[in-house]
Amino acid sequence: MRLQKQVALVTGSSQGIGRSIAVRLAEEGADVVLNGREDDAEARESVALVRHCGRRACFIVADVSRVEECRRLVRESVERMGRLDILVNNAGVQRHAAFLDASDEEYDQVLNVNLRGPFFLAQAFARYLREQGRGGRIINNSSVHEELPHPNFTAYCASKGGLKMLMRNIAIELAPLGITVNNVAPGAVETPINRELMSQPDKLASLLQNIPAGRLGRPHDVAGVVAFLASADAEYITGTTLVVDGGLLWNYSEQ
Ligand code: NAD
Repeated sequence: MRLQKQVALVTGSSQGIGRSIAVRLAEEGADVVLNGREDDAEARESVALVRHCGRRACFIVADVSRVEECRRLVRESVERMGRLDILVNNAGVQRHAAFLDASDEEYDQVLNVNLRGPFFLAQAFARYLREQGRGGRIINNSSVHEELPHPNFTAYCASKGGLKMLMRNIAIELAPLGITVNNVAPGAVETPINRELMSQPDKLASLLQNIPAGRLGRPHDVAGVVAFLASADAEYITGTTLVVDGGLLWNYSEQ
């Protein structure tokens, strides 16, 4: 177990990749603060899975698109768990819209959840660590679309491209504090965000042709890499993106 005596905050962890990350960090010995917009059945299931690993878990409702909520989330995490060592910015949304039709509401929603949230969560977390006089880990769940264009998902690609430069900049600013900052960049992963894609056999088949590994990613493929980045083995890794995509990024073309 690589994360004993550590506490991790994983945003957007009531389902999908976030849930898998929360459970994997717990398997590595960390206590976990889970987060989402609602304390619903899915959220309770995630909390139960972490507790099943023998670790402490709590769920804090917060909308990460709001700066004040980000600050409260970090503050309450520390109050409830006693400390915080690892921040995983996982919450994310995507909206399908041709660039010529995209609305300002869609733009705001995607950018605020995917980029503004990680910015101000990382800031609140780093300020807390500075006060404590110790280092920590920031890991952002980005996407291959931090590099790869995806027509009709321009706001999403802009948010993930922004997350790449946020990560690179703050990796430099926070390194003297002993805080590492990295991204994981999944390809196409079997989660509710891809429900529509997975229900369309033709689209799915053409996507699979672009993935050299021949299958979609699974949430635990990503979670294991997050656990590595949170561990002592990754102490000297900062300012980088680990791509977890079965080879998709360098083999992709739009049909
Ligand atoms: P998902 O839709 O299953 O989960 C997203 C989670 O974020 C949900 O629990 C949702 O409630 C939460 N969330 C959304 N808005 C929030 C807000 N304002 N405040 C707090 N929580 C909020 O999606 P997923 O596939 O598990 O995606 C997780 C992350 O992985 C996202 O950042 C996504 O962009 C990224 N990603 C996913 C894939 C994929 O193929 N599934 C690929 C690349 C990157």
